[in-house]
Amino acid sequence: MRRAIYPGSFDPVTYGHLDMIVRSAKIVDELIVAVLINSAKNPLFSIEERVSMLEEMTKDIPNVKIQSFEGLLIEYAREKEANLIIRGLRAVTDFEYELQIAQTNRIVNSQVDTLFLATSLEYAYLSSTIVREVASYGGDISHFVPGPLIERIYAKYKQ
Ligand code: ADP
Repeated sequence: MRRAIYPGSFDPVTYGHLDMIVRSAKIVDELIVAVLINSAKNPLFSIEERVSMLEEMTKDIPNVKIQSFEGLLIEYAREKEANLIIRGLRAVTDFEYELQIAQTNRIVNSQVDTLFLATSLEYAYLSSTIVREVASYGGDISHFVPGPLIERIYAKYKQ
């Protein structure tokens, strides 16, 4: 069975992430979307909120599971018996860093490969940072995230 991990911060999940999840789920038998618990970052949404938003948005894809993780991704992959890590490439700027991480991970555990998916053209500009930035000024984020999440994102800035 091919089990893959799609890791990220998902703060918040965007249409770009969802496109990656839908496409990845077609390639593998089981996809674990792994939400990073990173104490160094100060996220907009708690880990529980990010997991629950992803669960809601992927509930119709049977081979997708949402989990959270802390620590080294490659160790987490070993724990979950996953032999594939999926990452999205939006632009050349993503590439250098992602390549370095993928190569490092292969040295640590040669059983795990990294698969890069080129972003769909319509989401190439999109990042969680852009969503937070626009939402913080009360701008229109309906092109970036699914409808049910919009109010939840605005609410964070009203608090
Ligand atoms: P990270 O902090 O690990 O970059 P993100 O939540 O920003 O976490 O992204 C998780 C993954 O999703 C990364 O592989 C990233 O390249 C990919 N990704 C982010 N935005 C998009 C997008 N618009 N289209 C395709 N892939 C994306």
